Amino acid sequence: RTVYVNGEYLPENEAKISIFDRGFLMADGVYEVTSVLDGKLIDFDGHAKRLERSLDELDMPRPDALPDLLDVHRELVRLNGIEEGMIYLQITRGAPDDRDFAFPDPETTKPTVVLFTQNKPGLADNPTAKKGIKVISIADQRWARRDIKTVQLLYPSMGKMMAKAAGADDAWMVEDGAVTEGTSNNAYIVKGNTIITRNLGNEILHGITRAAVLRFAREAQMQVEERSFTIAEAQEADEAFITSASTFVMPVVDIDGASIGTGTPGPIAARLREIYLDESRKLAV
Ligand code: PMP
Repeated sequence: RTVYVNGEYLPENEAKISIFDRGFLMADGVYEVTSVLDGKLIDFDGHAKRLERSLDELDMPRPDALPDLLDVHRELVRLNGIEEGMIYLQITRGAPDDRDFAFPDPETTKPTVVLFTQNKPGLADNPTAKKGIKVISIADQRWARRDIKTVQLLYPSMGKMMAKAAGADDAWMVEDGAVTEGTSNNAYIVKGNTIITRNLGNEILHGITRAAVLRFAREAQMQVEERSFTIAEAQEADEAFITSASTFVMPVVDIDGASIGTGTPGPIAARLREIYLDESRKLAV
């Protein structure tokens, strides 16, 4: 694989990052994952805007020679021949001379920028979307600024392991009795013709796929309610699903051992997946 590190395209085994990089030592970094379909980027603008916001919220300086990120994404897709897959982008506060909690001087410590591709044929035509996934609920023990897309992913990783141990595919996190989101996705339920998903705030990541799916749903005259819901309400719902850049719209058929609706993917989730894939392919760059 060819990867991108601080202005250079290199074979992955020649890419190097300092052991003093604050991304490595302190999880002082932000990231984005953009999917690729038909060799094109899905919702690149949304991801680029959220990246800017994450950098601003953390007072992270822009890399001096920050190239046009769209060009870098496209070049990596080309160099690695990606038809379907993902591009991972990470920016950290860089590598000061020593380890220190205080942020380094941005004049001398420049951010580290890394991008790599993941080839995933069958991302859109994913057989899992036809049978749906099972989730368990776990306490949300992450920090309180989940709206910033940082690389602190230890608790979500632990959540995935808890799900695996329970024979499930993923976990929905619960705080003060309400579902926040999935370990790496936004969570939804459907009651009748109404799609319900948690309102935006610092408690959840503002999913780029979430924004697009809600827009397409409203354009298709579906009802949308942005509010909190409990696991008990979800277990009684007609349908449930998740969204993310890598899973698009993925039906959820079991929550903590309770079958949702008929225990098979519901019609609204299936339709939203189809609309999302069709519409975002049209808008891909
Ligand atoms: N919530 C969390 C916690 C996530 O990690 C992700 C994916 N990175 C999402 C939601 C979905 O966001 P997006 O649709 O932008 O991929």
